[in-house]
Amino acid sequence: MVSREWLVVSKIEALIVLTTLPLTTPPLTTHKYTKQLEENMQIEWIESQFFHTDKIANEMIIIHHTGSNNGRINSLQGTISWFKPDVWRSTRQVSAQYIIARDLRPIIQMVKDEHTAWHAGRSSWEINGVLRENLNNRSIGIELQGDGQLFRYSDFQYDALIWLVKQKMEQFNIPIELVRGHEEITPRKPDPGQLFDWDRLKQGLASVTAPGSDIPAFDDSLDTDGDGIIYLDETDDVKIPSGKDRTIVESILDFFAGLFK
Ligand SMILES: [Zn+2]
Repeated sequence: MVSREWLVVSKIEALIVLTTLPLTTPPLTTHKYTKQLEENMQIEWIESQFFHTDKIANEMIIIHHTGSNNGRINSLQGTISWFKPDVWRSTRQVSAQYIIARDLRPIIQMVKDEHTAWHAGRSSWEINGVLRENLNNRSIGIELQGDGQLFRYSDFQYDALIWLVKQKMEQFNIPIELVRGHEEITPRKPDPGQLFDWDRLKQGLASVTAPGSDIPAFDDSLDTDGDGIIYLDETDDVKIPSGKDRTIVESILDFFAGLFK
């Protein structure tokens, strides 16, 4: 164990290090595999005809599976043509923003984030204390190729999902509590299923700082426009992304505390 004095010194040193860090320094604790993915992951755009422009906001992320037929996972091509049929159909019009295939390949995007995809149907969930229904126009839908009732999802799918969800949480300020399965917002639905590993997803998202995460609240009064960015001085251009910097502070304090244990 380190003496109290050493700990105090280490915290001061940590703060000195912090003040000299470039503002763009990534969090110290990044998931190795995800980091590799970040450099290689791609999104392929195949536009679905099934969407609407009535989006209210991206407040939730909803995870689905594409299902199976007679014990066989539905093919990727089958799902794509279900969302983008060669021949227009006026019934069973369904779509989702993203599809993540089982095998290594680009994530497919079929509806823009700012548009409403048709994946949630009759659904309800409490968002910021208000019970909302029919969540299509408040959410981003992500399909995992597979059937979580029968088959495990692939390692690639977890990593791609973490990569994607992380981006969307940061982009739209979505807290982890509002990343949900279809089965939760529509109880009769089976997806993503009991074989979906929620702990694995949450672990992968642990470095995302969004509202609702267990990071101490920062001084709201400094965040004049509520976007989570504190301007040190309105007259200069230095911005501190508050959430990320707290992660760095914590990481550094942990690092130094660890050195003197
Ligand atoms: Zn679903």
